[in-house]
Amino acid sequence: MSNRNTIQAIRGVEDLLPVQAPLWHRIEDAARDVFATFGFQEIRTPLLEPTPLFARSIGEATDIVEKEMYTFDDKGGEPVTLRPEGTAGAVRAYVEHNLSEQLRLAKLYYMGPMFRRERPQKGRLRQFHQIGAEVLGSAAPGVEATLLVMLKTFFERLGLESTKLEINSLGGPESRALYRQRIYEHFKPRIGDFCGDCQRRIETNPLRILDCKVDGEKTRGAPQILDFLNDQDKEHWHAVLRRLEDAGLTFDVNPRIVRGLDYYTRTVFEFTTDRLGAQNTVAAGGRYDGLVEQLGGKPTPAAGFAVGIERLALLLSSNAKTVPAPHRPKLFIASLGAQAERFALLTMLDLARQGIWCEIDYEGGSLKSQMRYADRLGAEYVLVLGDNELAAKKGDLKRMSDGSKEPVELGKLAEKIA
Ligand code: ATP
Ligand code: MG
Repeated sequence: MSNRNTIQAIRGVEDLLPVQAPLWHRIEDAARDVFATFGFQEIRTPLLEPTPLFARSIGEATDIVEKEMYTFDDKGGEPVTLRPEGTAGAVRAYVEHNLSEQLRLAKLYYMGPMFRRERPQKGRLRQFHQIGAEVLGSAAPGVEATLLVMLKTFFERLGLESTKLEINSLGGPESRALYRQRIYEHFKPRIGDFCGDCQRRIETNPLRILDCKVDGEKTRGAPQILDFLNDQDKEHWHAVLRRLEDAGLTFDVNPRIVRGLDYYTRTVFEFTTDRLGAQNTVAAGGRYDGLVEQLGGKPTPAAGFAVGIERLALLLSSNAKTVPAPHRPKLFIASLGAQAERFALLTMLDLARQGIWCEIDYEGGSLKSQMRYADRLGAEYVLVLGDNELAAKKGDLKRMSDGSKEPVELGKLAEKIA
């Protein structure tokens, strides 16, 4: 029970408990496996980065940079920030280590914690985890198709069927500037009807009004970005859609997707679900052709996505079919007497060295209590060792699922079980 001296975790900063770990492992293993097949390699970047990295990439007038970052001056006085997303760090590393020289096309993925000071609720945390992928070095529409097919394959590998792909284009800088002006003119006269955030956004980042969580619905009828694309942006947009159709991906065009980060250009997308309430976006991403240059690298077109692991885990754990079975020991050895106890311990350690999970009850105790423990652990087989078994070097291997017994030589346990 809690007492006055107990220290609790920070709100929205959660523990991953052992019961949840198998599901997380399954998600992470599936990502590594699927992404490797698509030719992606892992990159691990620091959790802590210089603050200007995020201000310059995500954008000063975004929710993240304006109010959600964990930023502080370290002891030397340099402003540092706990990373709120993974793309900026990956691009910084790409530029810093000259990856463009080593890799004509860099296909990278990452996974790990991100930090945003948001209001904690179901599917929304202050420390959350993302799995993301980035392709740096190509403006081809096949890049978007690759990312989206890879993401879909990842979901399918996990048994997730309920996601919907929504896609839009924000155009390049030229189309975007035109559209931004039109959106400003459209909303300016009626901005009084919108929430306080939107009243600020109209001056700083008017496109964000379109995906306002409060007043988004009121934006129906607003001018649509797709009508403002210049010829090259339009050609790219249609080329992406054709390739998604070729690959058999179904999608909806949603002109209201604008994304909350400034670095996106052209294609943007979200995978949504109707099973997570308000936090309905499982994965999101898009093209960011200007970002590498903006962070001091050579002009390098790029695109990527990020998946929220917590939301994925919520979805998967709500369906019995997609929850992994808990790990169970292969064997439990119950022992009676000091000699048997030592032999049981030695056997357990021996089996573990050979890759077989076996358990004993360190506390000894009655046969009944040891059997109860074996049951609780869900051991597949149980072996009871007493003086007789030790003398004969033989015992009975009991299969717990049906209670059947088979004689086994103690020296051949490993072969028998494996
Ligand atoms: P949302 O619209 O839900 O706030 P976002 O646009 O801020 O999402 P991105 O920055 O694109 O999200 O991050 C990609 C994914 O990371 C999201 O789709 C979501 O699954 C996950 N994610 C983002 N913020 C959080 C958070 N605070 N807690 C848990 N997961 C998050
Ligand atoms: Mg957000």
